[in-house]
Amino acid sequence: MEYRIDPKSGNELSILGFGCMRFPTSRPGKIDMLRTELLILEAIASGINYFDTAYLYAGSEEALGTILQKNSLREHVFIATKLPHTNCRSIEDVERCFQKSCERLKTDYIDYFLIHNVATHEQWKRLLEFGIEDWIAEKKRSGAIKQIGFSFHGSNPEFVKLIDAYQWDFCQIQYNYANEHYQAGRAGLDYAASKGLPIIIMEPLLGGRLVDRLPEKAKKVIAESAPAGTSETQAAVELALRWLWDQPEVTVVLSGMSTEQQLKDNIQIADSAKPGCFTVQEQKTLDEVLRLFNESFRVPCTGCNYCLPCPVGINIPSLFSAYNTSYSVNWFTGVMNYFMSVGSLGTDPHYASDCIECGACMKKCPQHIQIPDELKKVRRRLQPPATKKIMEIVSKTRL
Ligand code: SF4
Ligand code: SF4
Repeated sequence: MEYRIDPKSGNELSILGFGCMRFPTSRPGKIDMLRTELLILEAIASGINYFDTAYLYAGSEEALGTILQKNSLREHVFIATKLPHTNCRSIEDVERCFQKSCERLKTDYIDYFLIHNVATHEQWKRLLEFGIEDWIAEKKRSGAIKQIGFSFHGSNPEFVKLIDAYQWDFCQIQYNYANEHYQAGRAGLDYAASKGLPIIIMEPLLGGRLVDRLPEKAKKVIAESAPAGTSETQAAVELALRWLWDQPEVTVVLSGMSTEQQLKDNIQIADSAKPGCFTVQEQKTLDEVLRLFNESFRVPCTGCNYCLPCPVGINIPSLFSAYNTSYSVNWFTGVMNYFMSVGSLGTDPHYASDCIECGACMKKCPQHIQIPDELKKVRRRLQPPATKKIMEIVSKTRL
């Protein structure tokens, strides 16, 4: 495992961080504690020392805290967790959330504490009105918070304003080869680094879109350039991660590893990735993959599910996935996926055309997707006129 120094604290951080949003589950919504424990123990044994969770990741803080306590490993790792600031209306709410995170994590201090999913400077100003600066100062004085930062999903100008607005210890941005000039982007990465901040990277694989959901032609390009014996999936992951670790401004790359194979593959890549490691041949492969990727993906949905639930029950990410598939694979597959995703043969289907344009989802989307507008495009492409009526009749006949 390679390590990079956090220039603010001097901590030696593993370049691969464990993203704890999607631990393995035994059934939907239920974390499989045994498998999760084995994964975490293997990760720590392999040198991973940075674990990223959040107040809002269902069950994640509790699972991580329980496993670290059971194995007496709290002191061996750095824990990052996040404040759900949009749920807070006062400094008392902030304190309550912080105490809850500590209680779930079974610790009395957080190494890296982030304001979760900040998109604008205005949001930070709202927290200032609560007195968050004094609260942070007190937490740092008492040692309850070691490093303070924020995770970001907004535009580059807002990112720069936020960086300049406070004496941050670190920041976390969405960054990958398909988003080099999106959100904070490379310009934001360089700016934060110029201020001496360590930078934690999230969405390195764009929610899997740079791996198994790449267009078939792009997968072929990757497979052809991969060394013999490397699987197509591993080669795609390797290309994306090495592109990031090639950049010295990148401190830690978070990966949400929920299988043993993902962990093994990522560790293997992290074992040898240093600044300047990306070869000319890799760059050529990446340029071609990116060209094909940009050609075929229409909606930049990462499948994070933050927009759910929709009040009328639309499975937004699945419909966008079907729409993208209709370009990256073919129209017919996209249509099949669409009708599966809407539950067209069930008793309670929810079509793109059911959208009432309430806008609730858009406020929560970190990718700032104009969801109702995009759903109209989904409907036009994948849901021919009268389809809903016909499916209702078919469904009733079956009942
Ligand atoms: S705008 Fe449409 S998709 Fe979004 S929450 Fe409202 S009804 Fe659901
Ligand atoms: S539409 Fe936005 S919030 Fe919803 S899953 Fe996609 S990226 Fe996430």
